[in-house]
Amino acid sequence: MDKKTIRDVEVAGKKVIMRTDFNEPLDERTGHLTDDIRIRAAIPTIEYLVNHKAKVILCSHLGRPKGKRELLYSLQGVAKRLSELLRQEVRLVPDCIGAVAEEAVSRIQDGDVILLENLRFHPGEEQGDPAFAEALARLGELYVDDAFGTAHRAHASIVGIAKHLPAVSGLLLEKEVMTLGGVLQNPVHPFGLLLGGAKVNDKVALIENVMSKVDHIIIGGGMAASFLKAKNYEIGRSLLDGNVEVASYLIQKADKHGVKIHLPADVVVTDEIKHSSPAEIVPVGTIPPDKRIADIGPLTVSQFRKVLEKCKTVFWNGPMGVHEIPQFSESTFAVAGIIAGLHATTIIGGGSTAEVVTSLKLNEHMSFVSTGGGASLEFLSGQMLPGVAALLDR
Ligand code: ADP
Ligand code: MG
Repeated sequence: MDKKTIRDVEVAGKKVIMRTDFNEPLDERTGHLTDDIRIRAAIPTIEYLVNHKAKVILCSHLGRPKGKRELLYSLQGVAKRLSELLRQEVRLVPDCIGAVAEEAVSRIQDGDVILLENLRFHPGEEQGDPAFAEALARLGELYVDDAFGTAHRAHASIVGIAKHLPAVSGLLLEKEVMTLGGVLQNPVHPFGLLLGGAKVNDKVALIENVMSKVDHIIIGGGMAASFLKAKNYEIGRSLLDGNVEVASYLIQKADKHGVKIHLPADVVVTDEIKHSSPAEIVPVGTIPPDKRIADIGPLTVSQFRKVLEKCKTVFWNGPMGVHEIPQFSESTFAVAGIIAGLHATTIIGGGSTAEVVTSLKLNEHMSFVSTGGGASLEFLSGQMLPGVAALLDR
């Protein structure tokens, strides 16, 4: 990576403000965290700083409190989980700027870790307010960004703060950029891109950017409907939130690049995307006009398996069906299992996709599960992420 990391600077005895992405999914009723992968992913950088005798000041956002102090989005649960994982007390400071935070920072010793309360309790964070960034910067002497999942946002704690302090990358952010960047620069072929999820439009830039590098593009999920329609199939009342012209354009472009596009041969259809709505498997040539596609079918899963098994590199983003509803979740879970069993470099990106892999406990079987939902897609689309751009060049 062409940016400085914590290994390139002296951290001992310094007050280090580390921006993390502890934005874990929450149970909205109880406020309990339902996952901890992002907390776990930050541990190596925190441990590095602790072992090198830095004074560690962590900050993060959680949820969308919209600039107001909302107890549901307190980082209290994160502080507790962090204390367990680090086997060291991590005290939560009730505010991230001002007298309370400055007082807490003045008392911290080398090797201590404190966590500042949710950055988004202040409207200045998301607004990128320079005064808020300055108030935050005042707490430290060095800024470490490890929040890859938020690197596509030009927020105060991501970009503004780097104008006041020397800014370097943490180990997670470095690993994300190196791994995702490596896939773009020199993938081992054949390289398969497996896409699903709902919106074609969100993924056009990604498909275009990788077109010259991939050998196979495999399409399932809601976006398959747009591609099937572009191939003149009846798709009934399926979701069409990408437009068909875009799909046609991508099909033509793939043709020019000699990239093979694989579409479903059979699909699971239903009347409504609802828990109570029964599922039916049909070949793509006979989708009833009054039904919707909710998943790919078993024949498609076996065809996709054959393509994936030929690949030496696989990037997967987007569920194959409406995985939140049991009768439409089978192929997403099957595909996750197939990818986990490949002898290939397997990289998972996207919020829902990472959650699926984690819920099946398959993380260890993948080469890399990105912690960046939107950030990983933007990065693979070839965009410079503001959070990376803000760091010091090597
Ligand atoms: P990720 O968060 O991994 O990037 P996306 O946000 O692109 O994935 O897509 C996830 C969503 O796509 C899920 O909520 C899932 O229900 C939805 N989805 C997948 N297949 C379909 C389909 N056939 N019809 C409607 N929604 C779908
Ligand atoms: Mg998503």
